[in-house]
Order: sequence, then C-alpha cells, then structure tokens
Amino acid sequence: VVLVTGASGHLGRLVVDALLERGKPAGDIVATARDLDAIADLAARGVQTRRADYTDPASLDAAFAGVDRLLLVSSSAVGSRVEQHANVVDAASRAGVDLVAYTSIANADTGGLALAAEHLETERLLRERGVPTVLLRNGWYVENYTENLDPVLATGSVVGSAGGGKVSAAARRDYAEAAAAVLLADDQPGKVYELGGDVPFTLAELAATLAEATGREIGYRDLTIEEHTATLESAGVPAPYAALLVDSDQGIGRGALHVDGGDLSRLIGRPTTSLTEAVRAAVAG
Ligand code: NDP
Repeated sequence: VVLVTGASGHLGRLVVDALLERGKPAGDIVATARDLDAIADLAARGVQTRRADYTDPASLDAAFAGVDRLLLVSSSAVGSRVEQHANVVDAASRAGVDLVAYTSIANADTGGLALAAEHLETERLLRERGVPTVLLRNGWYVENYTENLDPVLATGSVVGSAGGGKVSAAARRDYAEAAAAVLLADDQPGKVYELGGDVPFTLAELAATLAEATGREIGYRDLTIEEHTATLESAGVPAPYAALLVDSDQGIGRGALHVDGGDLSRLIGRPTTSLTEAVRAAVAG
C-alpha cells in the first residue's frame, strides 16, 4: 500500500494520477488531505482517502496504519514546515513504513537558498530518525512562470533579479511521474535524485518564448534586489514571501536551481516538458 500526502494539492493529486496510470490498483493507494471533501473525487475512483493533518500526530498515526511506502509532499506552510514534517517522519517511523519519499528542493545542500533551509532540516530529521528514505530534490516548477501571466501580458515584461542564471524548471506533472516511479520501484532507500528540466533556461529566454507564443513584444527586465522586492510588495506579495522569491532569483543567478545529470527524464522515461510546450499550453489556456 502506497500513501500520498497533500493529495488535495497540485502535486499530490498528480502523483495519485500517475500511480493509477502506472497500474497501481486504486485500492492499494491511500490519498490523504486535511479535508476529505477536497479529495472526494479520488474516493469516487476507488482510492482510499484518509484525513491527515501534519500538525495532528494522532491523525497521522491513524492515516499511516498498514502503509508500506509513503510520499511526504512538503507542506506549503513555509516557516512551520520543520515541525510539521517532524510529526510526519515520527508517525512514519512508528508505523514502520518501508520507505519515505520526501519532496525536497534541488541542490538542497549546495544551493544556499533560503527556501532550502527547511528542506535540509527535514532531510536531517529523516536521517536522524533512521527511516528508510529516498530524496526527490525537486527543481522549480515551470508553472511558477506560466500560471500567472496576466502581469507579464499587461506590462510586456518578465521581471526578476536572476540576471543570466539558468533554471532547470520542469512541469509538476514531470515531478509527479518521477515520484510515482520511485514509489513503485524497488531498492530506493538511500537514493537522492536531483530533479529538473532537461533544458535549463534564463529569464530572458522565458520572455522570448512568451513573445513567440503570444505574438507580442515581451522582454526580460533584470532588477536590483531592492527594485525586485519593491515590485513584488507593491503587487501585494507579503514582505516575507517577497524576500524568499528575491532570494530564490539570486540563487538562480548563481546556478542554485540548475540541475544536470538527467535524473528526471530517466525516471519518467521521456524528455521533460519543454519550456515551449509549457508556455504554449498556458497561453492556449
Ligand atoms: P499546493 O499548495 O497545491 O499543495 C500543498 C499541499 O500541502 C496541499 O495538499 C495542502 O493541503 C498540504 N498541506 C499544507 N499544510 C498541511 C497540513 N498542516 N497538513 C496536511 N497537509 C497540508 O502545492 P503543490 O502541490 O504545487 O506543491 C507541493 C509542495 O511543493 C508545496 O507544498 C511546497 O512545499 C513545494 N513547492 C515547490 C515549488 C517548486 O517550484 N518546486 C513551488 C511551490 C511549492 P490543504 O489542501 O489542506 O491545504
């Protein structure tokens, strides 16, 4: 039995889809969420659904009963993730699961991103607790760039502070398929996958791809840290979140989200979703 946490979220849902597509019987999949209504469609497809809240250890113990392999989708509660993940790791240990797969961040130990701190701490917890672990160090989602195109289309500019740094972004679906492949494979404990798109791109290349797909003039404006922060905050992004985004662009500038080695395409058995494909799909709506 394979369990996927965060099944109400974008990634977790796609992992459940990918497990089903790979022939895992629905009854051998457990999908968890805080609110079962959010995954009622999965229950309708025969997937077992159970309530699990990372802040509620009793819910985790109940959810993990009888589970062999578990995917911990990192929480979206940035700042509280270590405590939440510790609860999950402890419950997985109590349940005696054979494998915990954890969605970390690319280059977690070398990239120096502020966002990586909670992931590194979670990786450390997993080692410390002695739980059999496989690390899925996910790179950037291409959706980070394609999901909210309105400001880009309105201003004709992609803005950022990543300079000429390249980011190995891939589609959530690519990362989800990789997670499913790992959950279904043997001999995974101890493995560390650095996952990212096959063809890294700069933000100027992103702008050029958007221009081509829309037939509009779109360019990349590289901002200073101060300008980028002010732009995000004036668009309504809360200050701590804006700081993380600017820090991530600085990281991209020095290659912190550049992934080589092809782990992602190897796991999914096909090339990763190209920037052009992702942009065309987003523009087509
Ligand atoms: P979503 O925001 O769509 O999903 C997050 C999931 O985490 C939801 O299912 C949410 O459940 C769940 N969650 C949050 N808090 C708790 C909790 N206390 N207990 C149980 N579940 C909880 O994110 P994605 O699916 O797109 O991405 C998955 C993760 O990847 C994110 O949570 C984040 O850690 C990371 N991420 C990575 C990015 C990248 O570019 N690589 C970009 C953005 C995020 P609920 O529906 O109940 O809120």
